[in-house]
Amino acid sequence: MKIYNTLTRTVEEFKPNTEGKVKIYTCGPTVYHFAHIGNLRSYLHEDILEKYLRYAGYDVQRAMNITDVGHLSSDGDTGDDKMVSSAKREHKSVLDIAKIYTDAFFADFEKLNIRKPDIVVPATSQINEYITVITKLLADGYAYASGGNIYFDTSKLKDYYVLTNHKKEDLIIGAREDVDEDENKRNKEDFVLWFTKSKFEDQELKWESPWGYGYPGWHIECSCISMKYLGEYLDIHCGGVDNIFPHHTNEIAQSEAYLGHKWCNYWFHIEHLNLGNAKMSKSKGEIYTVDSLIEKGYHPLSYRYFVLSSHYRRTLEFTLENLSGAENAYLKLKSRISRLNKANDTLEEEMFAKYKKQFMDAMEDDFNTSLALTTVYDIMKAETNDYTKLKLIEDLDQVLSLDLLKEEEEATPVIENEAEILALIAERNEAKKNKDYARADEIRNSLAEQGIRLIDTKEGTKFEVI
Ligand code: AMP
Ligand code: ZN
Repeated sequence: MKIYNTLTRTVEEFKPNTEGKVKIYTCGPTVYHFAHIGNLRSYLHEDILEKYLRYAGYDVQRAMNITDVGHLSSDGDTGDDKMVSSAKREHKSVLDIAKIYTDAFFADFEKLNIRKPDIVVPATSQINEYITVITKLLADGYAYASGGNIYFDTSKLKDYYVLTNHKKEDLIIGAREDVDEDENKRNKEDFVLWFTKSKFEDQELKWESPWGYGYPGWHIECSCISMKYLGEYLDIHCGGVDNIFPHHTNEIAQSEAYLGHKWCNYWFHIEHLNLGNAKMSKSKGEIYTVDSLIEKGYHPLSYRYFVLSSHYRRTLEFTLENLSGAENAYLKLKSRISRLNKANDTLEEEMFAKYKKQFMDAMEDDFNTSLALTTVYDIMKAETNDYTKLKLIEDLDQVLSLDLLKEEEEATPVIENEAEILALIAERNEAKKNKDYARADEIRNSLAEQGIRLIDTKEGTKFEVI
């Protein structure tokens, strides 16, 4: 199985620390708001990673934190705590906010058929772990107290930038927002392990510690939760590419300083979902949530299909038009599958093995989900009986989780001439730009006659079947 490893910047053969077992850690959400579909792109690919490893026979153990304290608006040590800002905005307590958005997050998981990791740990439940690890880092000289906070001393490491190959200029734009110079730091790259009241007086959740009443930094949470629940040797650590720096860089620094050996072998990073020219982000501009797509009439699994149609290491451009395209393809595929004959028949083993292998080859080539999806289309065209096709699709759908065999309650119309409609929409946009409203109206009316209604939204023109 081949997997791209951010740490080595190469596609590598996957070899877990213990044969047959895989330990995966996933950075969980900061639960101050609804997850947007960009966040969920990352969790969808991580879901595929986990499910494929299980499908391939590995015994997978996966842990995820829920960040309910310590994540500042900068990803570094500046700005307000995101949870505190949200609680103020919504006139609720931090813990209420955490509960509301954690529940909403897992409700989104269900809508997108994402498996909830076996181990899910709120950051606020592990204060003693942080204190234990920080105490050792201080004792071993990897951390220091300054201005009331405890900092990690990055100059004590041989290679702080191991994950990013010392190329600061290559770091993802937008991730290095930590621009302030904190005078308490010995080195610019040092980061906070424990904040005390000296930093934010209005922090709602604080705990006693040997260094004063305070709260943990975001980075230490993931290191401690991972080490506690998955042990000192981790196979795969996941997250979106914006987590590479500073978050994952800092996680490696702390964990390896604490353990005294290499911690995680493979770093699996998902590229961003973009809206316009920038990554979809809660703090910068417009977002879509799963519910907002459902309100617009989309099937939530169309978004899963849309995400799986692209490779996780490529940025993916989100537009409602692109999603409509995916929805049409998805529903059309389901409708074709629903027409297969469900009667029992003999399983054509050779054909079953052939397409299963094709699927596995695609997945084992650094998780090429779009090629894996193509296998389903190839199965539909294959020279085999319907029973074998259905068994194959059922098998592959354990990983794809697209409910390919589930009948839709309401038959959704299949749009055969989608490309043509999209071309007419583009032509109409052009006509409107050139103030040729007569042509624009003509296109709208001719589509209406074919039962296609155009809906102009801020994000572009959508269409629906009347
Ligand atoms: P957060 O809740 O901000 O901590 O982010 C949760 C996860 O979503 C992290 O793994 C991020 O790297 C990831 N993420 C954030 N924005 C995007 C995006 N636009 N596309 C894909 N993943 C993202
Ligand atoms: Zn993390």
